[in-house]
Amino acid sequence: MSTHRVVVVGAGMAGLVSALQLAQQGLDVTVVEAGDSPGGKVHQRLVQGVGIDSGPTVFTMRWIFDQIFASVGTTLESELQIQPLPILARHFWEDGSSLDLHADRERSVQAVREFAGAAEASRFAGFCDMSQRVYEALEGPFIRSTAPSFLGMPGRLGASGLGVLTQLGPFRSLWQSLGQHFTDPRLRQLFARYATYCGSSPWQAPATLMLIAQVELNGVWSVRGGMHALALCLERLARQRGAVFRYGNACAQILVQGRQVRGVRLASGEELPADSVVFNGDVAALSTGLLGEPARAAVSRKAAPRSLSALTWSMHAPTQGVALDRHNVFFTRDYASEFTDIFNDQRLPRQPTVYICAQDRGADDGPAAGQAERLLCLVNAPAVGDRHLPTHEALDTCEHASFSLLARCGLTLQPLPDNHVRTGPQEFHQRFPATGGALYGQATHGWMSAFERAGAPTSLQGLYLAGGSVHPGPGVPMAAMSGQQAAAALMASPALTRRSPRAATSGGTSMR
Ligand SMILES: Cc1cc2nc3c(=O)[nH]c(=O)nc-3n(C[C@H](O)[C@H](O)[C@H](O)COP(=O)(O)OP(=O)(O)OC[C@H]3O[C@@H](n4cnc5c(N)ncnc54)[C@H](O)[C@@H]3O)c2cc1C
Repeated sequence: MSTHRVVVVGAGMAGLVSALQLAQQGLDVTVVEAGDSPGGKVHQRLVQGVGIDSGPTVFTMRWIFDQIFASVGTTLESELQIQPLPILARHFWEDGSSLDLHADRERSVQAVREFAGAAEASRFAGFCDMSQRVYEALEGPFIRSTAPSFLGMPGRLGASGLGVLTQLGPFRSLWQSLGQHFTDPRLRQLFARYATYCGSSPWQAPATLMLIAQVELNGVWSVRGGMHALALCLERLARQRGAVFRYGNACAQILVQGRQVRGVRLASGEELPADSVVFNGDVAALSTGLLGEPARAAVSRKAAPRSLSALTWSMHAPTQGVALDRHNVFFTRDYASEFTDIFNDQRLPRQPTVYICAQDRGADDGPAAGQAERLLCLVNAPAVGDRHLPTHEALDTCEHASFSLLARCGLTLQPLPDNHVRTGPQEFHQRFPATGGALYGQATHGWMSAFERAGAPTSLQGLYLAGGSVHPGPGVPMAAMSGQQAAAALMASPALTRRSPRAATSGGTSMR
């Protein structure tokens, strides 16, 4: 093992990937995690003794994980059981209509034809083409790039990429752009929701987020054992390569000497010396000084608007009425009001859109009629958990509005005292300090926002950032990518390249 000591603060997706890749390189890696298990937002809640995935549920962009697993000499398939889902998501509206989007694009075109007519189906096909072009234009220059800048983008995009973005309409919001693709308001609403995958409002998010449509068309997978199995797997692989995990150990301070990191101090007072630290908490914890003054100075203090929080119900309950698939969305009539409530008025939506992940469906046979099943119900919420909001009464009101919407859409499901656990912005704030419960870092509002996220290296030698609040952004695969970028930046640091020229390879992935 190398004498280069690394402390990874946080065993979220990015922290796990960094720890795994650095341990693979033979570094002396210790992960300190405030919680009691790996995964961070990727977590399960126990309801009636049954584990319910209560964080991310949609697994996409598997190529990022293929790359990570390959970098440590294994494959996703040999470590986990994953299955592509034939139906990407099932959508319901209050007027009784519903629409499935399929992994097979032609089946989706056919479904849209039956749902909204031939002209709209052809517009949908045009939208798919556009989102594919946007995805292909941005995957290399932005997602895979370690430090994309606004000014550097034209050069990275090249003529064809620039052409795509010009066609998309520079500076348009996702909502505006979708208005040019669809005449059926339900389809505009459906695809506008992709802004929320980055914790943002469709009215403020850039039109480029339509690339998420292509991300889903490239495949949505289910992981046996749930998304938490992915976190457990990464932890196991990192341990096998020598990483040490210390749960129930919050880091209180990042220790610095001069401009160089020298370790961390835990909440218990214990100090762990380190040559490098990878910080996997939200960057807001650093910029607000929670981890000490020197670490605060290492990142931008510019106040950024917070992304969405959530109100969730982890449930073990039977459902009746409309048939659920794995991923289900129930839409209200007035979509705009949801985002005005959350972002302008900082209150829970009076008309929430409800997402339900029915975790026994999609890849498996599904539950027998009347049998309790594993469900995660989620509505968007403002990130106000640090202000002791929303109140209990406001949560109850939103709960009533959410389950009433389900009933109006034809689904009978009731939260009863013993069949669910409710989690809101206050709990998320406690688990993810300095966030107010925001789950996706800063909101992706405006065209510049994607370039405002910090990259992996900081102005402090030896301090690296990884996670959904830094580049390339939130979501399980993007956070994993940032963990990979932090590991690569660390391996490329002078302290390591002086010692071991083979340590870092170009392109972001370190191999051994
Ligand atoms: C309800 C919900 C639904 C979501 N849905 C999806 C989805 O369907 N698809 C998708 O791709 N993404 C989804 N996301 C977002 C996705 O989960 C996150 O973007 C991603 O998991 C973030 O990973 P991360 O690396 O930033 O780490 P995080 O998950 O943020 O974990 C950070 C870890 O660091 C620890 N930590 C922080 N500070 C300290 C400290 N000082 N000392 C010690 N430990 C510390 C925390 O305890 C935590 O374990 C969802 C998130 C939530 C909560």
